Amino acid sequence: MSKIVESNKAKIQYNKPFSALKIIEPILNAIEQEGYSTPTPIQAKSIPIVLRGTDLLGCAQTGTGKTAAFAIPILQLLSANKAYGKKRKIRSLIVTPTRELAIQIDESFKAYGRHTGLRTTVIFGGVNQNKQTAALRSGVDILVATPGRLLDLINQGHITLNFVEMFVLDEADRMLDMGFIHDVKRILKELPRKRQSLFFSATMPAEIVKLASTILSKPQQVTVTPPSSTVDIIKQGIYFVDKGNKNALLVEILKNPAIKTALIFTRTKYGADKVARMLNKKKIKAEAIHGDKSQNARQRALKNFKEQSTRVLVATDIAARGIDIDELEYVINYEIPNIAETYVHRIGRTGRAGAKGTALSLCDAVEKEYLRDIEKLISKKIPVVEEHPFPLVDNNPVKPPKQQQQQRKRKPGNSKPKPKGSKNSKKRYGKPKKSR
Ligand code: AMP
Repeated sequence: MSKIVESNKAKIQYNKPFSALKIIEPILNAIEQEGYSTPTPIQAKSIPIVLRGTDLLGCAQTGTGKTAAFAIPILQLLSANKAYGKKRKIRSLIVTPTRELAIQIDESFKAYGRHTGLRTTVIFGGVNQNKQTAALRSGVDILVATPGRLLDLINQGHITLNFVEMFVLDEADRMLDMGFIHDVKRILKELPRKRQSLFFSATMPAEIVKLASTILSKPQQVTVTPPSSTVDIIKQGIYFVDKGNKNALLVEILKNPAIKTALIFTRTKYGADKVARMLNKKKIKAEAIHGDKSQNARQRALKNFKEQSTRVLVATDIAARGIDIDELEYVINYEIPNIAETYVHRIGRTGRAGAKGTALSLCDAVEKEYLRDIEKLISKKIPVVEEHPFPLVDNNPVKPPKQQQQQRKRKPGNSKPKPKGSKNSKKRYGKPKKSR
């Protein structure tokens, strides 16, 4: 993939109406019928990019209006060249991880496209396929699908993707977390090389960036974060501490009885397990939750945490996305995320619906650079907790000797955060497995 081009923020205006985005009349009318008055930030940023025919890498969560951000321009581009009746070919494919999302996306396409004459249908597993194949036979322009059922129907000869002009991979991080990576790779093989692709993910760890690079060509990147008001109501604090003292400091912080439960974030699955093990040794009941755990194990851990029989849940960013806990008061960043938006997503887990929220972060010397990015993004300085037993002393930590570094690399996830742009920064998550 060629270098991602940051969209020009200065040109983006959110308060303009939809009509300023050069959206055609039939779609504008439908949007009005939906009751939308102005585009959301992701829509204002993405719609012009997609209408130009450029690939898009979107970093946005559900709830930001991202469905319309891709549905509106897709409908508009496909409207320019319509076929009717059974001659319709699938010209746009949207792949999304869950049945619920697939249904929502299908409904959105139908709503925004109601005056365009374009036909959308949805397919997902767990139900009889007959109704779905009948809809496909009668001809569709836009297909919304979950990966498993899509591959099934391709294999049975009900679907060909040879005519797809616009492809959307939605919620890519969740897709990977749910184990769909091989299915996604198989689907990619079925798509024409010449196409426009849009890729959405709420988080952008290295493995997602790598996957995006195999799908997109010269993409523009668009990022939106949860509303800054969420950030404003959360009490934040930063502890400067040496890497080697993070465990001791974490235990010290958790001595505070006011912290009834805490969600702790680590960057890697390996890190999550390690922190949970360490806490349990110190008699602090903790469980780890991440993509390598079975669905059952994750649900059990989450239930225990919600019922407060587990005090601490240690999670990776992707695993934490499905976690919705209303009264979560404490979020602790064991490591500072190297992508600033991830910090906002993490701390947004607390302080929901006006509830109290506190986000504490442990920052070592190497991570200070990430902290600067975060403060720039949220346009405020995070208060420093000065009084604690493990103040940072080593401001210029010596890098481990080469041999040690190589040994550490072999263990997945066990690596030191590297400043952005450093040679190996993308290798942190290890090589993705080859597709079967
Ligand atoms: P999404 O992030 O796509 O799941 O959308 C979240 C919700 O926002 C959905 O209920 C949409 O109907 C709604 N929505 C999307 N775009 C707009 C808009 N421009 N104005 C108001 N509501 C919107």
